[in-house]
Amino acid sequence: MRGEKVCAIEGCNEPASKEVDRSFLPFIQELKLKLKDDVGKKIPLCRKHYKMVKQVRDAQLSGF
Ligand SMILES: [Zn+2]
Repeated sequence: MRGEKVCAIEGCNEPASKEVDRSFLPFIQELKLKLKDDVGKKIPLCRKHYKMVKQVRDAQLSGF
């Protein structure tokens, strides 16, 4: 096993602080972020990217 998990966003090498499931994928795509290739069922995200994705998700859930 590799050690600490790293953020799954391409170009980001921050350590992951949260893991999200694939239901977060549309929000990640909405932010025009690309995932690294080897992402499994859970998507590890660093603090910064988790915040960004969660903001989009929260906006969509409360909006419309
Ligand atoms: Zn990141």
